Amino acid sequence: MKIELTSQQQAAQVEFKTFANTALFPFADQFDRDECVPNSVIAQLAGRKYLSAIIPEEFGGLGTDMITYGLLTEEIGRACSSTRSLLTVQGMVSYAILRWGKPQHKQTWLPRLADGRTLAAFALTEPNIGSDAKHIETMVEAQADGYVITGRKKWITFGQVADLFLVFAQDQGKASAFLVERNTPGLTTIPMKGLLGTRASLVAEVHLDHCVVPKENLIGGLGLGFSTIALSALDLGRYSVAWGSVGIGQACLEASLKYASERQQFGERLKQHQLIQEMIANMVVQVKAARLLCYHAGYLKDIGDMNATAETLIAKYFASGMVPRVASDAVQIHGGNGCGSDYPVQRYLRDAKVMEIIEGSNQMQQVMISRNAFADYAGQPAA
Ligand SMILES: Cc1cc2nc3c(=O)[nH]c(=O)nc-3n(C[C@H](O)[C@H](O)[C@H](O)COP(=O)(O)OP(=O)(O)OC[C@H]3O[C@@H](n4cnc5c(N)ncnc54)[C@H](O)[C@@H]3O)c2cc1C
Repeated sequence: MKIELTSQQQAAQVEFKTFANTALFPFADQFDRDECVPNSVIAQLAGRKYLSAIIPEEFGGLGTDMITYGLLTEEIGRACSSTRSLLTVQGMVSYAILRWGKPQHKQTWLPRLADGRTLAAFALTEPNIGSDAKHIETMVEAQADGYVITGRKKWITFGQVADLFLVFAQDQGKASAFLVERNTPGLTTIPMKGLLGTRASLVAEVHLDHCVVPKENLIGGLGLGFSTIALSALDLGRYSVAWGSVGIGQACLEASLKYASERQQFGERLKQHQLIQEMIANMVVQVKAARLLCYHAGYLKDIGDMNATAETLIAKYFASGMVPRVASDAVQIHGGNGCGSDYPVQRYLRDAKVMEIIEGSNQMQQVMISRNAFADYAGQPAA
């Protein structure tokens, strides 16, 4: 078995890295302080069609394979996890439309999502409902000429500026998914400030007060919102967060290698102290292991393997679990400087922690991974 990028994937990786190093990396701490990824950066991502790279070329996107999408997510996530989070949600909504939308949804929205004329947000979580997403409280009621949606969404990434929301709402316990445009009467957003991490990702509460949407804004069938649309979009979201975690881990490693090579204590560079070497070795191994799990999940997605979703859970669980430890060691290697604002590692630690919570908390990943393991076991012939 050979794990090797194609020449196109290698070229794309160089392009993504160059962009991230010049357009994001030097400015990411400022975005974090400003709690905002600026429009000028979003415009650059849009111009390169990075915002939703998986959209097929026929709809104006890059039509990347999943490995290339992963490489993009790693590089953007290495430079700025808040910017990565825009790619994650834009990708999730695009994917839901691509997979479950009607032809007119695709014709209308995919070219706009591909070139950034439309920014999208994924609105599932609510003040009272997070992990138990099957039981959302936002209500939808069918009327002769459309649907009326009423409820509250919380923690919606890029909700402050999104033009289009994929909103999940239920009728008699059955959730459905709807496209709701920002200018819909009754829709308001309230910025959420002072977050632990991904502070620049323009997170908002979304209030829907009797928002009337046309019948054709239903995505997929009535009652299929959670079981098909949310779960398949979350599968892509987890893949993106897994790669984004690898990106933060790689950033931690690079910052630590640099610092340990330059800083001297006890007459020696930090890198010559064995306890520092131990932390570096663990960082190298953890980041590489997570990246390999991501490659595996991406490869299975690209070949349409039925285990792709299960392997994505594992990649997300491992990658997002390793990255707070790696980021904590990066801060440790930087000592007092790791706690200050002159070095980015404190941001990496804050951004890393978020990864264990989003797209399904790591406890939820554990529940699903173990459920899959028992299902596999039950399917095996008795020993
Ligand atoms: C920065 C950020 C951005 C986000 N962006 C979005 C977004 O764009 N769209 C969106 O819809 N949501 C978004 N979210 C919400 C996120 O998906 C939820 O926070 C997450 O699913 C967890 O839900 P909760 O916060 O309600 O925690 P809860 O579900 O209340 O869980 C609290 C704790 O209990 C644990 N727990 C819950 N149930 C169980 C169980 N059965 N067994 C063991 N442990 C359990 C959880 O793992 C967690 O540790 C975002 C969150 C953050 C922090």
